[in-house]
Amino acid sequence: MRAGKTSLSLKGAALVLVVLSGAWGAWAQTRPRAAAQPKGDEARFRAALEQVSVESMKGHLSFIASDALEGRKTPSRGLDLAAEYIAAQFRRAGLEPAGDDGYFQTANWRLSARDAAAFHLSFSGGTGPSPAVTPEQLGVGFGVAGFSFWEPAGELNLSGARLLKIDHANVPAALTREQVGGRVVVTELPAFPRGDQGRLLQLLREENEFLSRMRGLGSPLVLAFDRGSERVRGGRAPRVFDPESRSAGRNVPDLGFGGVQTAPLVVIHGAAAARFYDSLPAGDTQAAADVRIPAPSETPVKVRNVAGLLRGSDPALKETYVVVSAHYDHLGVRDNCDPSKEDCVNNGANDDGSGTVGVIELASALSKLNPRPRRSILFLTFFGEELGLVGSRYYGRHPLVPLAQTVAQVNMEQIGRTDDSEGPQVGTLAVTGFDYSDVGAALARAGELEGVRVYKHPTKSDAYFSRSDNQSLADAGVPAHTAGVSFDFPDYHAVGDEWQKIDFENMARVVRTVGRALLALADSPQEPRWNEQNPKAAPYIQAWKKLHGESRQ
Ligand SMILES: [Zn+2]
Repeated sequence: MRAGKTSLSLKGAALVLVVLSGAWGAWAQTRPRAAAQPKGDEARFRAALEQVSVESMKGHLSFIASDALEGRKTPSRGLDLAAEYIAAQFRRAGLEPAGDDGYFQTANWRLSARDAAAFHLSFSGGTGPSPAVTPEQLGVGFGVAGFSFWEPAGELNLSGARLLKIDHANVPAALTREQVGGRVVVTELPAFPRGDQGRLLQLLREENEFLSRMRGLGSPLVLAFDRGSERVRGGRAPRVFDPESRSAGRNVPDLGFGGVQTAPLVVIHGAAAARFYDSLPAGDTQAAADVRIPAPSETPVKVRNVAGLLRGSDPALKETYVVVSAHYDHLGVRDNCDPSKEDCVNNGANDDGSGTVGVIELASALSKLNPRPRRSILFLTFFGEELGLVGSRYYGRHPLVPLAQTVAQVNMEQIGRTDDSEGPQVGTLAVTGFDYSDVGAALARAGELEGVRVYKHPTKSDAYFSRSDNQSLADAGVPAHTAGVSFDFPDYHAVGDEWQKIDFENMARVVRTVGRALLALADSPQEPRWNEQNPKAAPYIQAWKKLHGESRQ
């Protein structure tokens, strides 16, 4: 029994799914309304939402997450192909082009690359034998805020710089500028865990704090030893950056650490280097290093958000907008991977091909409405989420419709997989910042009608609010949230995130739920509001007031 193929009416199929999933509470709530003869808006909405189909979504996602698109890295040909595909679907749905170039919103960014073969590091002094370090063993650190390595002037030339050994987890409180200034700090940083984003962000934050402190104490470089791998796994690939953010002093992906300036980080991989590290005494080591890392070269690159508009039907309300979005980029192809022997493509089917297909599917379904919703609906897919939400942040700085007339955003993340690390998530949908604004309740009401339990995850709903593409509009004051089925799943950021593992039946219900919420938000003359009772919403309420002028309450 599959919802898209049986001869049951969709209403019947939905009930079957609810029963199968055991969502009794939701079913009990749904039944009386479903049994009633739908009238007016309800019949119109239902007819549109019934267009959301398992086969259609499977078709879209099996292309977007195919190996042919090579993991949709920002920037890449695979990403461009995905953008063209999304634009083609918006065109097919009859959406108005809402970008600067048809359906595309073009960011004219720069691609910065370094000649890795010219990296040089050698040691002198010390008590143990100095290792010969090859360029393959040298990586520049993860792009934490303030890291200047991708600046044109960001070359590093140190000669005979003394090494100071510091345990990053146990930094002496009394360290002074006299002790650290001009010294290369050597340390060992914890390996980043796979599949635990919360832990990863915690480690990044700690690493960032350490690097920031070392910069503050005058260290020109932190050298971290990684005994876990013999060679660089990443971090040297060319990177995109926004020339505007350079002039604003933010030259790297902003991971939400607040633009703190840090010391540059170079990671040395391999057991031989680790033995050298082990041989060094704590504190002033008497050893020294020569370090040469050449300045990067830059080339222009275009990266694109994709935007289509379903124009509202109300003469006044059509000038206001509800945004539905997802990020269409992913991580690209694994470094140091041999495609003849193994799977090298990070397909990103769930993350966030699923949300992207949700946007496409809703564009197609909702454009069939006659009459259209009162407010306009803006369909957006973002580049660069995996680089630190940079595509949605770009949109926040360059909105295509006025932010003061944008009443809400629902962003979809990871809506396809139900095999969550905390157990199966069938018939459920989590909302980040659930009770920060009325949007959570709008989604919950929609979920009741579709047999989906929309809920606030006790720890993750708030923790993840700032980690997705809703954040830039929230920062601007727009009630903006992310809806997702799974926070963590087994193939998160790995090559196994393939479209075949998507639960499409469940995804159809989730997409209909989001569609219903969008229709409610777009048809109601009442704008959603931030929740004055929730202290966590306070900064967004401030932003809202700024956006709308203090006079509005
Ligand atoms: Zn994602």
